Amino acid sequence: MQFTGKYVLVIGTKRSGLAAVELLRKQGAHVRAMDAQPLTAEEQARFNSLGVEVVSQTRENIADQGREPDVIVLSPAVPVDLPMLWSARERGVSVIGEVELASWFLKGPVAGITGSNGKTTTTSLTGHLLQQCGIPCQVGGNIGTAVTSLVESSADDCWNVLELSSFQLETISHFRAAIGACLNVTPDHLDRHQTFENYASIKARLFETQHREDYAVLNYDDSTCRGYARSAKAEVYWFSASQPVPRGISLQGEELCFDGRPFLSRSQIRLRGLHNVENVMAAALIAHLAGAKLVDLGPAVETFPGVEHRIEFVRELNGVEYFNDSKATNVDAALKAIDAFPRNLWIILGGKDKGSDYTPLRGPLHQRAKAALLIGAEADYPQAAAPLIRNTLAGCVPLIDCGTLDRAIRYAHAHAAAGDTVLLAPACASFDQFQNYEERGRTFKHLVAELF
Ligand code: ADP
Repeated sequence: MQFTGKYVLVIGTKRSGLAAVELLRKQGAHVRAMDAQPLTAEEQARFNSLGVEVVSQTRENIADQGREPDVIVLSPAVPVDLPMLWSARERGVSVIGEVELASWFLKGPVAGITGSNGKTTTTSLTGHLLQQCGIPCQVGGNIGTAVTSLVESSADDCWNVLELSSFQLETISHFRAAIGACLNVTPDHLDRHQTFENYASIKARLFETQHREDYAVLNYDDSTCRGYARSAKAEVYWFSASQPVPRGISLQGEELCFDGRPFLSRSQIRLRGLHNVENVMAAALIAHLAGAKLVDLGPAVETFPGVEHRIEFVRELNGVEYFNDSKATNVDAALKAIDAFPRNLWIILGGKDKGSDYTPLRGPLHQRAKAALLIGAEADYPQAAAPLIRNTLAGCVPLIDCGTLDRAIRYAHAHAAAGDTVLLAPACASFDQFQNYEERGRTFKHLVAELF
């Protein structure tokens, strides 16, 4: 689409919205930005310098002096079913997402990675593998750099390795991944997507927009991923940590095998946990399908240090190891983290509840944990997870009410013995006490560093 002289409305003014505005301005569009929240002075200045007016999020503000937009671009955080969008659609305005917009301009092939858990690790690892194997690539999407920000540096021979959330996939139509990967699908973000079926069908968009000559990389052990294979147009490659696969990578004993041939030993993987073996298998498959040789993948995997806040080793003190898995913001992720440690765990749980069922934690914590240390805002906080966790876990593991991360760490430090592990894997969102999971993880690391 030729944007010169077109009027485009961008809804959402944070990272993706701003990046979309910048791209559209470079393309010569007349752009207006809209947000439900007021901007900071710094944010406002950025839009001013681009010559873009920012308006409040109302139906009346869609038109600019009576002129209807040619296109509306949504940031991933903006719900696609806003009533004011229905009427715009009825009037014939095309409504697209930031990733779709980027795909109209992006050069080079795309490797798109989605899943409920493991996206960032796998995306970052895929970028690392490609680089180590001498294949040009750039990494972005949900991992941090908006896809529209990658447009300028994109090139025909350079892979775009993109982490894609359900929010980003919800609005794609022409976006196409030469390699599309889904790691797993477990219930998440149901507050926005309502049902699991709807959430799963949004992730399926990644495969629906592929062509026959593309590749779909799917988890053989995940029933939803198997469902995607049935309707995929692309050629399917599988990965599995539990069984041989028709085509692709599987874990056989301690060896990762491609079509039955070993190419990487599990001991070469520095990341903890079977879920990370799955992430390695997915990333290795993507890299191989993008041209990396199997013999080069082993040494490349060995040098991957992991990603901050994902079962990140922090420190050993008096024989006690401290790990930061602040990114375990749901029960499934916390279970994977617990699974990575055989015994003697002091686990820190709690935060903002997302309507989760904590029952699956009972068995693993009973087997592996010495205690669960509960944190999070409680008094007058309606979404406090601690009371729910306390009720659900009663009787299976000693529960210590700590309230704050600081008290939890000090309690663990005072009671843990050599050989024990202290693990922050809260199974909850962080917003009750922290800005985000990164701040929670950094606070944990800072407090652990101060212990003596
Ligand atoms: P995402 O970007 O999808 O949120 P991350 O790589 O940031 O994924 O990991 C988020 C959390 O999910 C981590 O706490 C980690 O323990 C857990 N996790 C990582 N990979 C997997 C996987 N393949 N399956 C299940 N859980 C995983």
